[in-house]
Amino acid sequence: MKDNVFYDVIIVGAGASGLMCALQCKRRGKSVLLLEKQPQPGRKILVSGNGRCNLTNAHVSAADYRGTPRLAEAVLQQFPFQKCLDFFHDLGVLTVEEENGRIFPRTGKSTAVAEALRLACEEAGVEIHTQSHVVKVEKKNHFRVRLESGESFSCKYCVLACGSAAYPQAGGCEDGYRLARLLGHHITPLTPALCALNVKEKAVARLQGIRAQVRLHVWPGTKQEIQSEAELLFTAYGLSGPAVLNISGPVGRALEKDPVPLAVDLLPEIENKSAFLKQRAARFADRRAKEFFTGLLHENIANLLIDFAGIRKNMPVKTWTENTWTSVARTLGAWPFTALSLRPWTEAMVAAGGVNCAEINYNTLESLCCPGLYILGELLDVDGRSGGFNLHFAWGCGFAAALAMPED
Ligand SMILES: Cc1cc2nc3c(=O)[nH]c(=O)nc-3n(C[C@H](O)[C@H](O)[C@H](O)COP(=O)(O)OP(=O)(O)OC[C@H]3O[C@@H](n4cnc5c(N)ncnc54)[C@H](O)[C@@H]3O)c2cc1C
Repeated sequence: MKDNVFYDVIIVGAGASGLMCALQCKRRGKSVLLLEKQPQPGRKILVSGNGRCNLTNAHVSAADYRGTPRLAEAVLQQFPFQKCLDFFHDLGVLTVEEENGRIFPRTGKSTAVAEALRLACEEAGVEIHTQSHVVKVEKKNHFRVRLESGESFSCKYCVLACGSAAYPQAGGCEDGYRLARLLGHHITPLTPALCALNVKEKAVARLQGIRAQVRLHVWPGTKQEIQSEAELLFTAYGLSGPAVLNISGPVGRALEKDPVPLAVDLLPEIENKSAFLKQRAARFADRRAKEFFTGLLHENIANLLIDFAGIRKNMPVKTWTENTWTSVARTLGAWPFTALSLRPWTEAMVAAGGVNCAEINYNTLESLCCPGLYILGELLDVDGRSGGFNLHFAWGCGFAAALAMPED
């Protein structure tokens, strides 16, 4: 490797946003050095979507983002869904659409996306240096980027695309926040997001591994109530699955102060639970509790619900009192849990918080503190819901920043 070579653009981090930015800068005629501390680029792309890479979403909009949704909106204007899809098709990646607009590579493997991007970068002439850990970026007339090995490189424009602290097994780290601070930026409080929850109710462990389609209410019955309708996964410690991941950002922030009350509607498609149960009871009057729930709930969920609602197991439903019916209907519609804490960074898919977006030009992703510096992707205080929105934002940032860099 040559020392102190001058490039138009140096990009720190060969993840989703860095690879996209490198390719677009190169296509626009710039000399580009892409520095990645890990042995291979795009590790988080590889682990994404359970190894299948949910690379974008057909319904993506600013409403899918928290933190600074207006910045996400500006990025989406430049890089909407169709542009994203066309871009990957143009790279030779065929895609399929699954439920709720989620887009995956047709091969069913995330390598299709990571490899297509790496190959496109290489073919375009981007220099990619792996195992190149950036420890310092300084700005005088130009940027000087220093590696842990002691080598350094200079450039006109520098891009921080280092990702967040989430999921350190695939390279998540705090380097980006540190480098951004050195260049004058501030970091808003960081919490794990798209992350499961530990709950107070230990009995939930009896349901470990069971999935159910639910509507999850957070702070039920209050003005601040939020809802998430999706699949819930019961775990040994608490609750996970898309229904929980989607609300983990605001819940995580609130958990810094107090436990957060939750209520799970196990039959969200049935509005009037009492009337539905009564109708069912008329047909199965002689059945005992467990038999009554056959075909309606997973057996283990039914067992726990029977205990929770205080139902006597061997009594036929025709003997149940009005109080029992009320208790069953209430538990089915709003089974209460208490979130105590988030699972650790090792289980978080993204971070809530990051570089304060008040210090960023929304249209160009250029730093307002340090001209010529661009900050992309998850390092910013923008986090998306589960469903392809975080990768879409990362690609969009890389695209918008490359387009914004002066021609010179
Ligand atoms: C398990 C898991 C599953 C996910 N599934 C999905 C999904 O299906 N769909 C979706 O939209 N999102 C998903 N995400 C989120 C998505 O992967 C990220 O939001 C996205 O990769 C962020 O892109 P980025 O470019 O900001 O950062 P990253 O892709 O994380 O890239 C940052 C890169 O910078 C490198 N780096 C950091 N510091 C330095 C340094 N000092 N020097 C050199 N290199 C450095 C890192 O090694 C890394 O390669 C998932 C995340 C996880 C953890």
